[in-house]
Amino acid sequence: MTVGALAPYATCESRSRGRRFPEPAPAYRSEYQRDRDRIIHSTAFRRLMYKTQVFVNHEGDLYRTRLTHSLEVAQIGRSVASALSLNEPLTEAICLAHDLGHTPFGHAGQDMLNACMREFGGFEHNLQSLRVVDRLEAKYADFPGLNLMFETREGILKHCAKRNARDLGDVGERFLKREQPGLEAQIADIADAIAYNNHDVDDGFRAGLITLDQLCTQALFGRNYAAVSERYPDLDDRRLIYETIRRMIGTVVTDLIETTRANLERLAPANADEVRSAGEVLVKMSPEIFAEHLSLKQFLKQHLYSHEKKLAMTRQAERIVRELFNIYMQSPATMPAEFSARADAGDEHRRARVVADYVAGMTDRFAIAEFERLCSNG
Ligand code: MG
Repeated sequence: MTVGALAPYATCESRSRGRRFPEPAPAYRSEYQRDRDRIIHSTAFRRLMYKTQVFVNHEGDLYRTRLTHSLEVAQIGRSVASALSLNEPLTEAICLAHDLGHTPFGHAGQDMLNACMREFGGFEHNLQSLRVVDRLEAKYADFPGLNLMFETREGILKHCAKRNARDLGDVGERFLKREQPGLEAQIADIADAIAYNNHDVDDGFRAGLITLDQLCTQALFGRNYAAVSERYPDLDDRRLIYETIRRMIGTVVTDLIETTRANLERLAPANADEVRSAGEVLVKMSPEIFAEHLSLKQFLKQHLYSHEKKLAMTRQAERIVRELFNIYMQSPATMPAEFSARADAGDEHRRARVVADYVAGMTDRFAIAEFERLCSNG
């Protein structure tokens, strides 16, 4: 297949709303390739390697981390973008950046940090991802953050409450106007869900938290599993499952591409602006496959994320995040100088935000080491 020109409704840089701080155009890359490259070179991106996706990083070397999850999201996103003649580097940049604001210990860490921040404006990993690329990465001489293109930043901000949208300026506008983001951002959003649904089946099975019989109750898994085991009756369980997962991803991604293509033909948006005002999400699976995808998501929630072994890890993670937050709030000087100086410079709200930035940026193992250092009787 040849890589052709962009479709008329793709996001293109000549119509971009650009960067917050204007810069000369790159000499040998596109603007969105430059965004992707900046994300890959960021500190927050490297730290994803040691952050929990579902299993705490040190529980095993074979499970997904937030870094490998992000790479899988980017792979799926790029395939879909390229099949639909959309902007592949932009899709890739959004996918790679989508989880940069995640705390250590996955959702347990984020929920506890949000609870700690209740009186100080809350904590939301999605908003934090934008904060990382807009402000917290400090590597460039001419501007704070990574100074990414508007469309990349908008795609990173997947959802946002109206009260927050007002404070966010340009990237918050679409939530107030009830508009959709560009197609590339829509792809990144759904590629995230496809990636975790499938890799969590793999990791959950390997960890012994879900069984083959349980998985076969799920239409998406059961149907592909039956086809694989009939065609390859002598295959060992592990390869059977890998082959099944491979086909599950294929089923969902193919359906997503075909349904989205049909939506685009039906609405025939003349450009990316018409995608935004279309009044509906255009990157979608068919209702049948989406129902199966949601059922699997629900199944994983019930059997994997709420498994007793997972819950024990959750309680420990909550304790670490809560205690670290309280210690830094009481004694900002226990944080590194650049954080304690910022924490001391303002009121309690400002101090809480600095502490949240510091804790959210930690890897799992650094948070555990800090907890042991500061709470030695813990
Ligand atoms: Mg994700």
